[in-house]
Amino acid sequence: MSDFKDKVVFITGGSRGIGRACAVAFAKRGATVVINYAGNEAAATETVKLIGEAGGKGKAVRFDVANPEECNKAVEETVKELGRLDVLVNNAGVAIDGLIMRFADADYQKTLDINLKGAFNLIRAVSRTMMKQRAGVIINMTSIVGEMGNGGQAAYAASKAGLIGLTKAMAKELAPRNIRVCAVSPGFIETDMTTHIPEEARKMMLQVTPLARLGRAEEVAAATVFLASNDASYITGEVLKVNGGMYM
Ligand code: NAP
Repeated sequence: MSDFKDKVVFITGGSRGIGRACAVAFAKRGATVVINYAGNEAAATETVKLIGEAGGKGKAVRFDVANPEECNKAVEETVKELGRLDVLVNNAGVAIDGLIMRFADADYQKTLDINLKGAFNLIRAVSRTMMKQRAGVIINMTSIVGEMGNGGQAAYAASKAGLIGLTKAMAKELAPRNIRVCAVSPGFIETDMTTHIPEEARKMMLQVTPLARLGRAEEVAAATVFLASNDASYITGEVLKVNGGMYM
């Protein structure tokens, strides 16, 4: 399929995990994919290689999504170079866990700055271009934890629940300009973010997951590409769960 031919897709946190799988999935459908990353240059270079092998064109830009000036600059340069920006996937995220009594202010702030303010920064940065185009799709990567909560994840849950509110507000605000805004809400997916989960906790999670396995990054990418495609042209403000049935 080449329904993203001539389309420019911008994915934050595209160097690894779910972001990388999204980059490859869009590339397979003909997109030009710009990925952002925080510091892992080797992983970002590998993703760009995979984009090329999948049949797309790719480029990596390093910046911190928490920094609004850097977000504006990256978007401006992308539009200048490629002439347009059709899809934004706000996927960059961190999970800093801990019990509330000992949770450091700096860790709370960092989580909110990257996971929630980062998405806000980029939505604001792309809005002018998408409004002028009178077309665009924005997908925010939230989490099952933002929907159902999880002990030990105060900051992460707050940031991901916030993303759902941001998604719905933007869906309403930008709809008159034909810009759709949705969220994808993964359950537990096998990536670097979940490798540290202890065996016991993993077993407990599988017991409450009807499909009885962790998800794959490619399965989250498939949902993301669907929402960004014309097949989802009447869907906006939606939070699409990709969680094996763990939370319904
Ligand atoms: P991951 O493997 O840990 O990758 C995180 C990505 O985010 C990397 O590309 C990283 O860049 C980038 N990043 C981190 N901080 C950044 C910053 N300040 N500025 C720019 N980029 C930054 O994570 P993942 O598991 O694929 O998760 C991707 C998204 O899905 C996250 O938003 C996460 O919360 C969400 N999610 C994941 C799961 C899961 O089970 N894995 C479940 C629900 C939701 P570098 O490579 O340069 O470090």
